[in-house]
Parts: sequence; structure tokens; C-alpha cells
Amino acid sequence: MSFDQLASELQARKQVSLYRERRVLQSPQQPDVIVDGKSYLAFCSNDYLGLANHPAIVAAFKQAADEYGVGGGASHLVNGHSFHHHALEEELAEFTGRSRALLFSNGYMANIGTINALLNKQDAVFEDRLNHASLLDAGLLSGARFQRYLHNDVNSLSQRLSKATARRLLVVTDGVFSMDGDIADLPAICDTANAHNAWVMVDDAHGIGCLGGKGGGCSEYFGLSQQQLPVLMGTLGKAFGTSGAFVAGSEELIETLIQHARTYIYTTSMPPAVAAATRASLKLVQADQWRREHLNELIKCFRDGCEQLDLDLMDSPTPIQPILIGDADKAMSMSEALREKGVLVTAIRPPTVPSGSARLRVTLSASHSLAHVDRLLDALDQVK
Ligand code: PMP
Repeated sequence: MSFDQLASELQARKQVSLYRERRVLQSPQQPDVIVDGKSYLAFCSNDYLGLANHPAIVAAFKQAADEYGVGGGASHLVNGHSFHHHALEEELAEFTGRSRALLFSNGYMANIGTINALLNKQDAVFEDRLNHASLLDAGLLSGARFQRYLHNDVNSLSQRLSKATARRLLVVTDGVFSMDGDIADLPAICDTANAHNAWVMVDDAHGIGCLGGKGGGCSEYFGLSQQQLPVLMGTLGKAFGTSGAFVAGSEELIETLIQHARTYIYTTSMPPAVAAATRASLKLVQADQWRREHLNELIKCFRDGCEQLDLDLMDSPTPIQPILIGDADKAMSMSEALREKGVLVTAIRPPTVPSGSARLRVTLSASHSLAHVDRLLDALDQVK
């Protein structure tokens, strides 16, 4: 069988400006990056606290690689669970104020494994319609009755919950929405779920490290206990600057995941050196409050500047600052024009975001300076 059919499908994608392409970085990920030998100022990484290249984290990684080698070697349950994995789990449990935490190799797998370990076709899952793809995929895969509620709308959730009859009810939401940057109304969502005897799972990939006095994410920001928010997932490849993910919660939750989460059981553990580097990162996430303060100053400066330029921002208090463009073609051509001015900002198009809502997704990081934000605003002024 030939691949001609695929070739014409790919061509059709190109024609409507939806073709996805990769760029090859020849440098660290930000703020200054090198692509094809040319230097750019980048606003595309999720390294929100600027920790990915921190010398203490790099040193911890190198030392653990010397001591433990490079690969995890096997799954956690076979031979792949090292001292650093174990210590990191204990430290993440303490950090999040949960009884226990469990490491996964990445956030996508954490979501797939957790929801599928908890639910089957006797159950029902309720997801915000703007949830991350991995949560939507996980809910669909579980076979549970799958319902989406209106974005961050507790009434819409409540209506669906009150009609539900199933063995288990699970409400699932992003903590900070990855393409809009807004924060879920978790106190109301948790109250509503508790009132209907449903569990809540929050994917705090973009909140952990950034929100809360010690970087504890949405749970710390809103002061939500393990009882109110029983399933807390966080990723390590964003604010932590390393790689991987964790789920934190009760003893029973974590033991259930160890027994049943297939993406935990049947995959090689993350390299122990990544766990060691993440332990070093966790210390900095908690101690370096100045990174969050500086980030907030950048966010304010960027938002004020966009307002003056009359750019259409979304209601986001977080480092994810999308500029709404609408048309996918226009978003692509603005991204390209910014690139010509030496600034990298990714255009996000359907199906990642709803059609007609293509945007330039600016992400800010503590590794940026106020002068960097000024340069970005200047470039935006020239291409808008
Ligand atoms: N959840 C959310 C909200 C995300 O934005 C992402 C990554 N973009 C993931 C999960 C997946 O995490 P990972 O990259 O570690 O697989």
C-alpha cells in the first residue's frame, strides 16, 4: 500500500496553515536561543522559573550520572527504583502536603495511568472542555461515561454531576490552563465535587512552582487540603526545569496506582540522575521566592505594554500570556514576522485551541529581564 493518501492529507494541512513544524535549537532553551546559527530571543519555553540551566541542578545531574549511570534500566517495580527516586517521592509528598507521591516518566503518562487506574466503564468522568489533551485522552480511554463541562463553569459541572449515576465520579481539570493561562476556580470546583461525592483530580503542570508562596501550585495558592483535592498531578519538565511528573495524594491512592497504573508499571523509570537533579531543583523552587516575584513583575509589565498596544490578551495572571489573533494564517504570519525581528513566539492553532481562536502563546520566565520584555513589546508593535 502506498503513502500517497497521507501525502495529500499533509498537503491539505499545509494549505490551511495547520501544518506543524519543528525547529532545531543549538543552544539552551531560553532566553537566547540559536537556530540555524542565528541568535533569537525566545518566549516559547515552559521553564518558568529559569531553572533548566541552573548550575546546582546541572551539578546534581552530573554527580548522580557518575554514581548511578545514565539509564533507569528497568521499570520501578522490576529494578528501576533508585535511592534518588525514592527520596524525591518523599520530598514531593512533603512539598505538596500530601501523604505520598509517585513519580511517572512524564505528565502525559501520569494522566493516562492515573485516570485509567481509577475508572472503568462503571464510572463517570467530568472534564473541563479546555483540559489538556492528555486528560481528555485519558478520560476517553478509560471507558467511563465521558462528559465535558463548559470552561471553568461550576454551574455547568454541577448540572452534570447532579444527573450522574455511576460507581465513581471523577472531576478532572487543569489547574492553570495550558493554552489560556487562566486558573481553575478550584475552591468552587472542589466544593461542588465534594457535595456530589465525586473525587477531584487537578493537573497542575503549569501551576506547580509558579503559584503559592513556596511554589506549591494551585493547591497552596487556594489552601486546598488532600481531602478537598485528593488527586494532585504535577509535572517536572516546566517550572522545575527537569523532566517527569508525579501524582500526590493518600496512601490508598498511591498504592492503587502502583498496583494498577499501566503507564507506571510497564515503562522504564526516569533516569536516576533526573530524579537527583529534580531534588536540587525542588530546593530552589521553595527557597527562591524572588524568581516568582520577578516573574510577576514581568507579567505585569508585559500586560501593561500589550494594553497600550491594544493587543487582545486573555484573562491570565500566570506566565502563560496568549495574544488572541483568531485567524490561523494571521497568527502564523505574525509569528514569522516576529522571527524576522529576532524574537521567537509560537503560534498555536486548531485543533490545539478551538477554531477561530489561533493565538501567539507568549511564555515568560524568571530568566527574562524587563529589557527582554521591552524588546518583545517593541517587536509586537512593529508586526501587529
Ligand atoms: N498536562 C498539561 C496541562 C500540559 O501542559 C502538559 C505538557 N504540555 C502535560 C500534561 C504533559 O506533561 P509532559 O510534557 O511531562 O508529558
